[in-house]
Amino acid sequence: MSNPINTTLLIIGGGPGGYVAAIRAGQLGIPTVLVEGDALGGTCLNIGCIPSKALIHVAEQFHALQGYAGDSPLGIRAQSPELDLARSVAWKDGIVKKLTTGVGALLKKHKVTVVQGWARIVDGKTVDVDPVAKGKAGAPQRIRCEHLLLATGSEPVALPFMPFGGPVISSTEALSPRKLPKSLAIVGAGYIGLELGIVYRKLGVKVDVIEAQDRILPVYDADLVKPVHAALKSLGIGLHLQTQVLGLSEDGKGLRVQSGKTEDVLPAQQVLVAVGRKPRSRGFGLSSLMLDMDGLAVRVDDRCRTSMNGVWAIGDLTGEPMLAHRAMAQGECVAEQIAGHTRRFVPAAIPAVCFTDPEVVTAGLSPQQAAQAGIDAIDASFPLAANGRAMTLESTDGFVRVVARRDNHLILGWQAVGRGVSEFAAAFGQSIEMGARLEDVGHTIHAHPTQGEAIQEAALRALGQALHV
Ligand code: FAD
Ligand code: NAD
Repeated sequence: MSNPINTTLLIIGGGPGGYVAAIRAGQLGIPTVLVEGDALGGTCLNIGCIPSKALIHVAEQFHALQGYAGDSPLGIRAQSPELDLARSVAWKDGIVKKLTTGVGALLKKHKVTVVQGWARIVDGKTVDVDPVAKGKAGAPQRIRCEHLLLATGSEPVALPFMPFGGPVISSTEALSPRKLPKSLAIVGAGYIGLELGIVYRKLGVKVDVIEAQDRILPVYDADLVKPVHAALKSLGIGLHLQTQVLGLSEDGKGLRVQSGKTEDVLPAQQVLVAVGRKPRSRGFGLSSLMLDMDGLAVRVDDRCRTSMNGVWAIGDLTGEPMLAHRAMAQGECVAEQIAGHTRRFVPAAIPAVCFTDPEVVTAGLSPQQAAQAGIDAIDASFPLAANGRAMTLESTDGFVRVVARRDNHLILGWQAVGRGVSEFAAAFGQSIEMGARLEDVGHTIHAHPTQGEAIQEAALRALGQALHV
Protein backbone atom coordinates (compact mmCIF):
# COMPACT_ATOMS: atom_id res chain seq x y z
CA MET A 1 0.00 0.00 0.00
CA SER A 2 1.35 3.45 -0.94
CA ASN A 3 1.53 6.31 1.58
CA PRO A 4 -1.92 7.28 2.81
CA ILE A 5 -3.43 10.59 1.72
CA ASN A 6 -4.80 12.68 4.59
CA THR A 7 -7.59 15.15 3.85
CA THR A 8 -10.41 17.05 5.49
CA LEU A 9 -13.14 15.98 3.08
CA LEU A 10 -13.25 12.75 1.12
CA ILE A 11 -16.03 12.38 -1.42
CA ILE A 12 -16.91 9.03 -3.00
CA GLY A 13 -18.58 9.60 -6.37
CA GLY A 14 -18.02 12.30 -8.99
CA GLY A 15 -21.62 12.71 -10.19
CA PRO A 16 -23.52 16.01 -9.86
CA GLY A 17 -23.79 15.54 -6.08
CA GLY A 18 -20.14 14.70 -5.51
CA TYR A 19 -18.50 17.06 -7.99
CA VAL A 20 -20.59 20.07 -6.91
CA ALA A 21 -19.77 19.34 -3.26
CA ALA A 22 -16.08 19.18 -4.23
CA ILE A 23 -16.14 22.45 -6.19
CA ARG A 24 -17.91 24.29 -3.37
CA ALA A 25 -15.55 22.77 -0.79
CA GLY A 26 -12.60 23.89 -2.91
CA GLN A 27 -14.04 27.42 -3.09
CA LEU A 28 -14.31 27.41 0.70
CA GLY A 29 -10.68 26.32 1.12
CA ILE A 30 -11.45 22.81 2.43
CA PRO A 31 -8.76 20.25 1.50
CA THR A 32 -10.80 17.82 -0.61
CA VAL A 33 -10.24 14.49 -2.34
CA LEU A 34 -12.80 13.10 -4.76
CA VAL A 35 -12.74 9.43 -5.73
CA GLU A 36 -14.41 8.36 -8.96
CA GLY A 37 -14.27 4.86 -10.38
CA ASP A 38 -15.72 5.71 -13.76
CA ALA A 39 -16.04 9.03 -15.60
CA LEU A 40 -16.42 12.37 -13.85
CA GLY A 41 -19.96 13.71 -14.15
CA GLY A 42 -21.61 10.49 -13.04
CA THR A 43 -24.88 9.18 -14.39
CA CYS A 44 -26.16 12.67 -15.25
CA LEU A 45 -23.43 13.79 -17.62
CA ASN A 46 -22.39 10.42 -19.06
CA ILE A 47 -25.44 8.18 -19.29
CA GLY A 48 -28.41 10.24 -18.05
CA CYS A 49 -29.68 13.81 -18.24
CA ILE A 50 -27.35 15.22 -20.87
CA PRO A 51 -27.12 12.37 -23.41
CA SER A 52 -30.88 11.79 -23.20
CA LYS A 53 -31.62 15.45 -23.87
CA ALA A 54 -29.18 15.45 -26.78
CA LEU A 55 -30.94 12.50 -28.40
CA ILE A 56 -34.33 14.08 -27.70
CA HIS A 57 -33.15 17.08 -29.72
CA VAL A 58 -31.94 14.88 -32.58
CA ALA A 59 -35.27 13.07 -32.67
CA GLU A 60 -37.25 16.33 -32.51
CA GLN A 61 -35.36 17.82 -35.43
CA PHE A 62 -35.69 14.65 -37.50
CA HIS A 63 -39.38 14.36 -36.75
CA ALA A 64 -40.05 18.03 -37.54
CA LEU A 65 -38.30 17.66 -40.89
CA GLN A 66 -40.36 14.58 -41.64
CA GLY A 67 -43.44 16.73 -41.00
CA TYR A 68 -42.23 19.12 -43.71
CA ALA A 69 -41.91 16.25 -46.18
CA GLY A 70 -45.69 16.00 -46.18
CA ASP A 71 -48.31 18.72 -46.12
CA SER A 72 -47.07 21.38 -43.67
CA PRO A 73 -49.46 24.20 -42.69
CA LEU A 74 -46.39 26.44 -42.45
CA GLY A 75 -45.98 26.20 -46.20
CA ILE A 76 -42.57 24.56 -45.94
CA ARG A 77 -41.73 21.69 -48.24
CA ALA A 78 -38.65 19.50 -47.72
CA GLN A 79 -37.38 16.24 -49.07
CA SER A 80 -37.67 13.18 -46.90
CA PRO A 81 -34.83 13.46 -44.33
CA GLU A 82 -32.29 10.74 -43.62
CA LEU A 83 -30.61 9.89 -40.34
CA ASP A 84 -26.90 9.23 -39.94
CA LEU A 85 -27.20 7.54 -36.53
CA ALA A 86 -23.45 7.17 -35.99
CA ARG A 87 -23.06 10.92 -36.46
CA SER A 88 -25.97 11.69 -34.11
CA VAL A 89 -24.42 9.50 -31.40
CA ALA A 90 -21.00 11.05 -32.00
CA TRP A 91 -22.53 14.54 -31.61
CA LYS A 92 -24.14 13.45 -28.35
CA ASP A 93 -20.83 11.96 -27.17
CA GLY A 94 -19.08 15.21 -28.05
CA ILE A 95 -21.35 17.18 -25.73
CA VAL A 96 -20.78 14.64 -22.96
CA LYS A 97 -17.01 14.87 -23.46
CA LYS A 98 -17.06 18.66 -23.37
CA LEU A 99 -19.04 18.72 -20.14
CA THR A 100 -17.10 15.98 -18.34
CA THR A 101 -13.78 17.56 -19.35
CA GLY A 102 -15.18 20.83 -18.02
CA VAL A 103 -15.93 19.21 -14.67
CA GLY A 104 -12.34 17.95 -14.49
CA ALA A 105 -11.06 21.46 -15.22
CA LEU A 106 -13.32 23.02 -12.57
CA LEU A 107 -12.14 20.51 -9.96
CA LYS A 108 -8.53 21.31 -10.83
CA LYS A 109 -9.21 25.04 -10.68
CA HIS A 110 -10.59 24.61 -7.17
CA LYS A 111 -7.63 22.46 -6.09
CA VAL A 112 -9.62 19.29 -5.58
CA THR A 113 -7.50 16.12 -5.73
CA VAL A 114 -9.20 13.60 -8.00
CA VAL A 115 -8.30 9.96 -7.39
CA GLN A 116 -9.39 7.64 -10.17
CA GLY A 117 -10.49 4.25 -8.85
CA TRP A 118 -13.13 2.33 -6.94
CA ALA A 119 -13.44 3.21 -3.27
CA ARG A 120 -13.86 0.59 -0.56
CA ILE A 121 -14.90 1.83 2.85
CA VAL A 122 -12.67 0.63 5.69
CA ASP A 123 -14.30 2.70 8.41
CA GLY A 124 -16.03 6.09 8.74
CA LYS A 125 -12.70 7.90 8.30
CA THR A 126 -10.73 5.54 6.07
CA VAL A 127 -11.20 4.45 2.48
CA ASP A 128 -9.05 2.28 0.22
CA VAL A 129 -9.13 2.98 -3.50
CA ASP A 130 -8.53 0.21 -6.00
CA PRO A 131 -7.03 1.78 -9.09
CA VAL A 132 -9.00 1.36 -12.26
CA ALA A 133 -7.22 -1.46 -14.12
CA LYS A 134 -4.92 -0.13 -16.85
CA GLY A 135 -2.98 -3.20 -17.76
CA LYS A 136 -2.36 -4.77 -14.38
CA ALA A 137 -3.90 -3.87 -11.02
CA GLY A 138 -1.83 -1.57 -8.81
CA ALA A 139 -1.71 -1.32 -5.01
CA PRO A 140 -4.71 0.26 -3.30
CA GLN A 141 -4.42 3.88 -2.18
CA ARG A 142 -5.48 4.53 1.43
CA ILE A 143 -7.17 7.88 2.15
CA ARG A 144 -7.92 9.16 5.65
CA CYS A 145 -10.38 11.99 6.23
CA GLU A 146 -12.22 14.00 8.85
CA HIS A 147 -15.46 14.01 6.84
CA LEU A 148 -16.64 11.28 4.50
CA LEU A 149 -19.26 12.24 1.92
CA LEU A 150 -21.06 9.38 0.20
CA ALA A 151 -22.32 10.28 -3.29
CA THR A 152 -22.33 6.94 -5.11
CA GLY A 153 -25.60 7.54 -6.94
CA SER A 154 -27.91 4.89 -8.30
CA GLU A 155 -28.22 2.12 -10.88
CA PRO A 156 -31.08 0.73 -12.98
CA VAL A 157 -33.44 -1.79 -11.43
CA ALA A 158 -33.50 -5.09 -13.35
CA LEU A 159 -36.45 -7.41 -13.68
CA PRO A 160 -35.41 -10.64 -11.92
CA PHE A 161 -36.92 -12.87 -14.61
CA MET A 162 -35.43 -10.83 -17.49
CA PRO A 163 -31.93 -9.57 -16.51
CA PHE A 164 -30.03 -7.04 -18.61
CA GLY A 165 -28.04 -8.52 -21.49
CA GLY A 166 -28.55 -9.32 -25.16
CA PRO A 167 -31.82 -7.77 -26.34
CA VAL A 168 -32.74 -6.61 -22.82
CA ILE A 169 -31.19 -3.20 -22.35
CA SER A 170 -31.12 -0.34 -19.84
CA SER A 171 -31.13 3.37 -20.60
CA THR A 172 -27.32 3.23 -20.87
CA GLU A 173 -27.42 1.05 -23.99
CA ALA A 174 -30.50 2.85 -25.34
CA LEU A 175 -28.51 6.11 -25.28
CA SER A 176 -25.72 4.74 -27.48
CA PRO A 177 -27.40 2.71 -30.23
CA ARG A 178 -25.19 1.41 -33.02
CA LYS A 179 -28.25 0.49 -35.05
CA LEU A 180 -31.91 1.21 -34.45
CA PRO A 181 -34.06 -1.85 -33.77
CA LYS A 182 -37.15 -2.35 -35.90
CA SER A 183 -39.24 -2.71 -32.76
CA LEU A 184 -38.63 -1.68 -29.17
CA ALA A 185 -40.75 -2.74 -26.20
CA ILE A 186 -40.29 -0.53 -23.17
CA VAL A 187 -41.17 -1.72 -19.69
CA GLY A 188 -42.22 1.26 -17.56
CA ALA A 189 -44.04 4.44 -18.59
CA GLY A 190 -42.01 6.65 -16.24
CA TYR A 191 -39.39 9.27 -17.00
CA ILE A 192 -36.97 7.10 -18.95
CA GLY A 193 -39.56 4.95 -20.70
CA LEU A 194 -41.38 7.95 -22.13
CA GLU A 195 -38.45 10.28 -22.82
CA LEU A 196 -36.59 7.55 -24.73
CA GLY A 197 -39.73 5.93 -26.13
CA ILE A 198 -40.56 9.19 -27.87
CA VAL A 199 -36.99 9.47 -29.19
CA TYR A 200 -37.05 6.00 -30.72
CA ARG A 201 -40.55 6.46 -32.15
CA LYS A 202 -39.64 9.79 -33.73
CA LEU A 203 -36.63 8.09 -35.30
CA GLY A 204 -38.95 5.57 -36.93
CA VAL A 205 -38.89 2.59 -34.54
CA LYS A 206 -42.10 0.72 -33.68
CA VAL A 207 -42.47 1.35 -29.95
CA ASP A 208 -44.69 -0.32 -27.37
CA VAL A 209 -44.73 0.83 -23.75
CA ILE A 210 -45.89 -1.52 -21.02
CA GLU A 211 -46.92 0.00 -17.70
CA ALA A 212 -48.09 -1.89 -14.61
CA GLN A 213 -50.22 1.02 -13.34
CA ASP A 214 -53.40 2.39 -14.90
CA ARG A 215 -51.74 5.51 -16.36
CA ILE A 216 -48.50 6.89 -17.67
CA LEU A 217 -46.15 8.93 -15.48
CA PRO A 218 -47.89 7.93 -12.26
CA VAL A 219 -45.76 10.37 -10.22
CA TYR A 220 -47.72 13.27 -11.73
CA ASP A 221 -51.44 14.03 -11.42
CA ALA A 222 -53.80 12.57 -14.00
CA ASP A 223 -54.89 15.84 -15.68
CA LEU A 224 -51.30 16.92 -16.17
CA VAL A 225 -50.33 13.83 -18.15
CA LYS A 226 -53.41 13.75 -20.41
CA PRO A 227 -51.76 15.82 -23.19
CA VAL A 228 -48.71 13.52 -23.05
CA HIS A 229 -50.94 10.47 -23.33
CA ALA A 230 -52.68 11.97 -26.35
CA ALA A 231 -49.34 12.82 -27.97
CA LEU A 232 -48.03 9.28 -27.50
CA LYS A 233 -51.14 7.97 -29.22
CA SER A 234 -50.81 10.35 -32.14
CA LEU A 235 -47.13 9.42 -32.53
CA GLY A 236 -48.29 5.82 -32.87
CA ILE A 237 -46.71 4.51 -29.68
CA GLY A 238 -48.52 1.39 -28.41
CA LEU A 239 -49.58 1.94 -24.80
CA HIS A 240 -50.34 -1.09 -22.65
CA LEU A 241 -51.52 0.06 -19.24
CA GLN A 242 -52.29 -2.21 -16.27
CA THR A 243 -50.20 -4.80 -18.06
CA GLN A 244 -47.69 -7.24 -16.61
CA VAL A 245 -44.55 -8.37 -18.38
CA LEU A 246 -44.03 -12.14 -18.35
CA GLY A 247 -40.70 -12.44 -20.16
CA LEU A 248 -39.17 -12.83 -23.60
CA SER A 249 -41.00 -15.07 -26.05
CA GLU A 250 -39.39 -18.42 -26.80
CA ASP A 251 -38.04 -17.30 -30.18
CA GLY A 252 -36.54 -14.22 -28.47
CA LYS A 253 -38.26 -11.88 -30.95
CA GLY A 254 -41.08 -10.71 -28.74
CA LEU A 255 -42.15 -9.76 -25.24
CA ARG A 256 -44.86 -11.77 -23.49
CA VAL A 257 -47.32 -9.57 -21.65
CA GLN A 258 -50.52 -10.11 -19.73
CA SER A 259 -53.45 -7.75 -19.28
CA GLY A 260 -56.26 -9.15 -17.14
CA LYS A 261 -56.52 -12.74 -18.25
CA THR A 262 -55.31 -12.05 -21.79
CA GLU A 263 -51.77 -12.95 -22.80
CA ASP A 264 -50.12 -11.39 -25.82
CA VAL A 265 -46.71 -11.22 -27.50
CA LEU A 266 -45.50 -7.78 -28.57
CA PRO A 267 -42.85 -7.53 -31.29
CA ALA A 268 -39.56 -6.59 -29.66
CA GLN A 269 -36.16 -6.76 -31.29
CA GLN A 270 -35.01 -5.04 -28.12
CA VAL A 271 -36.58 -4.54 -24.69
CA LEU A 272 -35.73 -1.43 -22.71
CA VAL A 273 -36.34 -2.03 -19.01
CA ALA A 274 -37.05 1.31 -17.29
CA VAL A 275 -38.81 0.38 -14.06
CA GLY A 276 -36.86 2.71 -11.79
CA ARG A 277 -33.41 3.12 -10.29
CA LYS A 278 -32.04 1.97 -6.93
CA PRO A 279 -29.45 3.59 -4.67
CA ARG A 280 -25.93 2.25 -5.15
CA SER A 281 -25.24 1.23 -1.57
CA ARG A 282 -23.82 -2.27 -1.94
CA GLY A 283 -20.47 -3.78 -2.84
CA PHE A 284 -18.06 -1.17 -1.44
CA GLY A 285 -18.18 -1.76 2.30
CA LEU A 286 -20.90 0.75 3.13
CA SER A 287 -22.83 -1.87 5.09
CA SER A 288 -19.88 -2.18 7.51
CA LEU A 289 -20.71 1.33 8.76
CA MET A 290 -24.12 0.02 9.95
CA LEU A 291 -25.79 3.31 8.95
CA ASP A 292 -29.53 3.76 9.37
CA MET A 293 -31.09 2.90 6.02
CA ASP A 294 -34.44 3.22 4.25
CA GLY A 295 -34.23 0.04 2.22
CA LEU A 296 -31.23 0.52 -0.06
CA ALA A 297 -31.16 4.30 0.52
CA VAL A 298 -28.92 5.85 3.16
CA ARG A 299 -31.10 7.74 5.63
CA VAL A 300 -30.09 11.37 6.16
CA ASP A 301 -31.43 14.18 8.29
CA ASP A 302 -32.23 17.71 7.14
CA ARG A 303 -28.52 18.49 7.04
CA CYS A 304 -27.60 15.44 4.93
CA ARG A 305 -25.97 13.79 7.96
CA THR A 306 -26.13 10.01 8.20
CA SER A 307 -26.50 8.23 11.54
CA MET A 308 -22.67 8.21 11.93
CA ASN A 309 -20.87 11.32 13.04
CA GLY A 310 -18.75 12.82 10.25
CA VAL A 311 -20.35 10.70 7.53
CA TRP A 312 -22.64 12.53 5.11
CA ALA A 313 -24.70 11.32 2.15
CA ILE A 314 -26.31 13.07 -0.82
CA GLY A 315 -28.01 12.50 -4.15
CA ASP A 316 -29.58 9.33 -5.50
CA LEU A 317 -27.89 7.29 -2.77
CA THR A 318 -30.31 8.93 -0.33
CA GLY A 319 -33.41 7.94 -2.35
CA GLU A 320 -36.18 9.91 -4.04
CA PRO A 321 -36.46 12.25 -5.75
CA MET A 322 -33.52 11.01 -7.80
CA LEU A 323 -32.82 14.25 -9.66
CA ALA A 324 -29.51 15.84 -10.55
CA HIS A 325 -30.38 19.31 -9.26
CA ARG A 326 -31.35 17.87 -5.87
CA ALA A 327 -27.99 16.08 -5.65
CA MET A 328 -26.16 19.31 -6.56
CA ALA A 329 -28.06 21.36 -3.97
CA GLN A 330 -27.32 18.77 -1.29
CA GLY A 331 -23.64 18.71 -2.25
CA GLU A 332 -23.35 22.47 -1.89
CA CYS A 333 -25.19 22.32 1.44
CA VAL A 334 -22.77 19.72 2.88
CA ALA A 335 -19.64 21.58 1.75
CA GLU A 336 -20.86 24.77 3.40
CA GLN A 337 -21.56 22.99 6.68
CA ILE A 338 -18.10 21.45 6.70
CA ALA A 339 -16.77 24.99 6.27
CA GLY A 340 -18.68 25.95 9.41
CA HIS A 341 -21.74 27.60 7.83
CA THR A 342 -25.18 26.98 9.28
CA ARG A 343 -27.15 25.26 6.54
CA ARG A 344 -30.06 22.87 6.26
CA PHE A 345 -31.45 21.11 3.22
CA VAL A 346 -35.10 22.11 3.42
CA PRO A 347 -36.09 23.38 -0.03
CA ALA A 348 -39.59 24.80 -0.34
CA ALA A 349 -39.80 22.93 -3.65
CA ILE A 350 -37.65 20.71 -5.85
CA PRO A 351 -38.84 21.25 -9.44
CA ALA A 352 -39.19 18.19 -11.65
CA VAL A 353 -39.30 18.07 -15.43
CA CYS A 354 -40.17 15.23 -17.74
CA PHE A 355 -38.76 15.96 -21.19
CA THR A 356 -41.51 14.29 -23.15
CA ASP A 357 -43.27 16.00 -26.05
CA PRO A 358 -45.15 17.88 -24.65
CA GLU A 359 -42.97 18.46 -21.59
CA VAL A 360 -44.23 18.27 -18.02
CA VAL A 361 -42.94 20.50 -15.22
CA THR A 362 -43.93 20.68 -11.57
CA ALA A 363 -42.79 22.45 -8.43
CA GLY A 364 -44.44 22.25 -5.03
CA LEU A 365 -47.90 20.90 -4.34
CA SER A 366 -50.57 19.76 -6.78
CA PRO A 367 -54.22 20.46 -5.85
CA GLN A 368 -54.54 16.85 -4.64
CA GLN A 369 -51.38 17.07 -2.54
CA ALA A 370 -52.53 20.33 -0.97
CA ALA A 371 -55.88 18.72 -0.09
CA GLN A 372 -54.13 15.65 1.34
CA ALA A 373 -52.01 17.97 3.50
CA GLY A 374 -55.25 19.47 4.87
CA ILE A 375 -54.60 22.90 3.31
CA ASP A 376 -57.55 24.98 2.12
CA ALA A 377 -56.21 25.79 -1.35
CA ILE A 378 -57.44 27.28 -4.61
CA ASP A 379 -56.13 26.40 -8.02
CA ALA A 380 -56.52 27.82 -11.51
CA SER A 381 -55.29 26.84 -14.95
CA PHE A 382 -54.54 28.84 -18.06
CA PRO A 383 -54.63 26.99 -21.39
CA LEU A 384 -51.73 27.43 -23.81
CA ALA A 385 -54.41 27.49 -26.54
CA ALA A 386 -55.13 31.07 -25.38
CA ASN A 387 -51.47 32.14 -25.54
CA GLY A 388 -50.36 33.91 -28.70
CA ARG A 389 -46.72 32.79 -28.56
CA ALA A 390 -47.78 29.15 -28.13
CA MET A 391 -49.91 29.50 -31.27
CA THR A 392 -46.95 30.83 -33.25
CA LEU A 393 -44.89 27.86 -32.06
CA GLU A 394 -47.61 25.32 -32.94
CA SER A 395 -47.64 24.27 -29.29
CA THR A 396 -51.11 24.98 -27.97
CA ASP A 397 -51.67 21.60 -26.29
CA GLY A 398 -51.24 22.11 -22.59
CA PHE A 399 -51.79 24.45 -19.68
CA VAL A 400 -50.22 26.12 -16.66
CA ARG A 401 -51.79 25.58 -13.25
CA VAL A 402 -51.15 27.34 -9.97
CA VAL A 403 -52.07 26.19 -6.46
CA ALA A 404 -52.25 28.71 -3.62
CA ARG A 405 -53.57 29.03 -0.08
CA ARG A 406 -57.11 30.39 -0.09
CA ASP A 407 -56.58 32.65 2.95
CA ASN A 408 -53.41 34.57 2.05
CA HIS A 409 -52.76 33.50 -1.58
CA LEU A 410 -49.30 32.10 -0.79
CA ILE A 411 -48.27 30.04 -3.81
CA LEU A 412 -47.88 26.36 -2.91
CA GLY A 413 -47.33 24.76 -6.27
CA TRP A 414 -47.16 25.03 -10.03
CA GLN A 415 -47.70 22.48 -12.76
CA ALA A 416 -47.49 22.85 -16.53
CA VAL A 417 -47.63 20.67 -19.58
CA GLY A 418 -46.76 21.88 -23.06
CA ARG A 419 -43.96 22.20 -25.56
CA GLY A 420 -40.99 24.07 -24.09
CA VAL A 421 -42.47 24.47 -20.61
CA SER A 422 -39.41 22.89 -18.95
CA GLU A 423 -37.98 26.41 -18.85
CA PHE A 424 -40.83 27.42 -16.51
CA ALA A 425 -39.06 25.42 -13.78
CA ALA A 426 -36.98 28.49 -12.90
CA ALA A 427 -39.96 30.82 -12.44
CA PHE A 428 -41.91 28.14 -10.57
CA GLY A 429 -39.07 27.32 -8.19
CA GLN A 430 -38.17 30.95 -7.54
CA SER A 431 -41.72 32.06 -6.76
CA ILE A 432 -42.23 29.24 -4.24
CA GLU A 433 -38.80 29.55 -2.62
CA MET A 434 -39.26 33.33 -2.25
CA GLY A 435 -42.73 33.00 -0.73
CA ALA A 436 -44.54 34.76 -3.56
CA ARG A 437 -48.30 35.28 -3.47
CA LEU A 438 -50.67 35.19 -6.42
CA GLU A 439 -50.65 38.98 -6.52
CA ASP A 440 -46.83 39.06 -6.81
CA VAL A 441 -46.86 36.94 -9.96
CA GLY A 442 -50.14 38.29 -11.35
CA HIS A 443 -48.91 41.88 -11.09
CA THR A 444 -45.41 41.24 -12.46
CA ILE A 445 -45.09 42.45 -16.04
CA HIS A 446 -44.34 39.43 -18.23
CA ALA A 447 -42.87 40.07 -21.66
CA HIS A 448 -45.17 39.69 -24.64
CA PRO A 449 -45.43 37.51 -26.62
CA THR A 450 -43.99 34.70 -24.50
CA GLN A 451 -45.35 31.42 -23.25
CA GLY A 452 -44.43 32.69 -19.77
CA GLU A 453 -47.44 35.02 -19.92
CA ALA A 454 -49.46 31.88 -19.18
CA ILE A 455 -47.83 31.81 -15.73
CA GLN A 456 -49.04 35.34 -15.01
CA GLU A 457 -52.47 34.56 -16.42
CA ALA A 458 -52.83 31.44 -14.24
CA ALA A 459 -52.11 33.57 -11.16
CA LEU A 460 -54.58 36.23 -12.35
CA ARG A 461 -57.20 33.57 -13.02
CA ALA A 462 -56.83 32.25 -9.47
CA LEU A 463 -57.60 35.84 -8.34
CA GLY A 464 -60.62 35.98 -10.66
CA GLN A 465 -58.83 38.51 -12.88
CA ALA A 466 -57.69 36.55 -15.96
CA LEU A 467 -57.43 38.86 -18.96
CA HIS A 468 -57.16 36.53 -21.90
CA VAL A 469 -59.55 33.69 -21.16
P1 FAD B 1 -24.52 9.72 -9.97
O1 FAD B 1 -24.67 10.73 -11.02
O2 FAD B 1 -25.04 8.36 -10.20
O3 FAD B 1 -22.95 9.63 -9.67
C1 FAD B 1 -22.41 8.70 -8.79
C2 FAD B 1 -20.96 8.47 -9.18
O4 FAD B 1 -20.35 7.69 -8.15
C3 FAD B 1 -20.79 7.68 -10.49
O5 FAD B 1 -19.94 8.39 -11.36
C4 FAD B 1 -20.14 6.37 -10.05
O6 FAD B 1 -19.21 5.86 -10.99
C5 FAD B 1 -19.44 6.79 -8.76
N1 FAD B 1 -19.23 5.68 -7.82
C6 FAD B 1 -20.17 4.84 -7.34
N2 FAD B 1 -19.60 3.99 -6.46
C7 FAD B 1 -18.28 4.32 -6.39
C8 FAD B 1 -17.17 3.80 -5.66
N3 FAD B 1 -17.30 2.79 -4.80
N4 FAD B 1 -15.96 4.36 -5.84
C9 FAD B 1 -15.80 5.40 -6.71
N5 FAD B 1 -16.81 5.93 -7.43
C10 FAD B 1 -18.03 5.40 -7.24
N6 FAD B 1 -32.12 13.93 -13.48
C11 FAD B 1 -32.53 15.18 -13.71
O7 FAD B 1 -32.57 15.99 -12.77
N7 FAD B 1 -32.90 15.61 -14.97
C12 FAD B 1 -32.87 14.77 -16.02
O8 FAD B 1 -33.21 15.17 -17.14
C13 FAD B 1 -32.45 13.44 -15.82
N8 FAD B 1 -32.40 12.57 -16.85
C14 FAD B 1 -31.95 11.30 -16.62
C15 FAD B 1 -31.92 10.43 -17.70
C16 FAD B 1 -31.50 9.14 -17.51
C17 FAD B 1 -31.45 8.19 -18.69
C18 FAD B 1 -31.06 8.71 -16.23
C19 FAD B 1 -30.55 7.30 -16.03
C20 FAD B 1 -31.09 9.57 -15.15
C21 FAD B 1 -31.54 10.88 -15.34
N9 FAD B 1 -31.61 11.78 -14.29
C22 FAD B 1 -32.06 13.05 -14.51
C23 FAD B 1 -31.21 11.41 -12.93
C24 FAD B 1 -29.79 11.94 -12.60
O9 FAD B 1 -28.88 11.39 -13.55
C25 FAD B 1 -29.40 11.54 -11.20
O10 FAD B 1 -30.37 12.00 -10.29
C26 FAD B 1 -28.06 12.15 -10.83
O11 FAD B 1 -27.04 11.74 -11.70
C27 FAD B 1 -27.68 11.74 -9.40
O12 FAD B 1 -26.45 12.29 -9.07
P2 FAD B 1 -25.53 11.59 -7.97
O13 FAD B 1 -24.32 12.46 -7.84
O14 FAD B 1 -26.30 11.30 -6.75
O15 FAD B 1 -25.13 10.17 -8.58
P1 NAD C 1 -39.69 5.88 -12.97
O1 NAD C 1 -39.85 5.62 -11.53
O2 NAD C 1 -39.79 7.25 -13.48
O3 NAD C 1 -40.75 5.01 -13.79
C1 NAD C 1 -40.82 3.62 -13.66
C2 NAD C 1 -42.18 3.19 -14.20
O4 NAD C 1 -42.16 1.77 -14.33
C3 NAD C 1 -43.34 3.54 -13.28
O5 NAD C 1 -44.37 4.12 -14.03
C4 NAD C 1 -43.76 2.18 -12.71
O6 NAD C 1 -45.13 2.11 -12.40
C5 NAD C 1 -43.39 1.26 -13.85
N1 NAD C 1 -43.12 -0.12 -13.47
C6 NAD C 1 -42.42 -0.59 -12.40
N2 NAD C 1 -42.33 -1.93 -12.43
C7 NAD C 1 -42.97 -2.33 -13.57
C8 NAD C 1 -43.21 -3.60 -14.16
N3 NAD C 1 -42.73 -4.73 -13.63
N4 NAD C 1 -43.92 -3.65 -15.31
C9 NAD C 1 -44.39 -2.51 -15.89
N5 NAD C 1 -44.19 -1.28 -15.36
C10 NAD C 1 -43.49 -1.19 -14.22
O7 NAD C 1 -38.27 5.20 -13.35
P2 NAD C 1 -37.33 5.35 -14.61
O8 NAD C 1 -38.10 5.85 -15.78
O9 NAD C 1 -36.58 4.10 -14.70
O10 NAD C 1 -36.34 6.50 -14.16
C11 NAD C 1 -35.55 6.30 -12.99
C12 NAD C 1 -35.30 7.61 -12.30
O11 NAD C 1 -34.35 8.38 -13.03
C13 NAD C 1 -36.53 8.51 -12.20
O12 NAD C 1 -37.33 8.20 -11.11
C14 NAD C 1 -35.91 9.86 -12.05
O13 NAD C 1 -35.58 10.03 -10.70
C15 NAD C 1 -34.65 9.75 -12.88
N6 NAD C 1 -34.88 10.37 -14.22
C16 NAD C 1 -35.24 11.67 -14.27
C17 NAD C 1 -35.46 12.26 -15.50
C18 NAD C 1 -35.85 13.71 -15.54
O14 NAD C 1 -35.70 14.38 -14.52
N7 NAD C 1 -36.31 14.23 -16.66
C19 NAD C 1 -35.31 11.55 -16.67
C20 NAD C 1 -34.95 10.21 -16.59
C21 NAD C 1 -34.71 9.63 -15.34
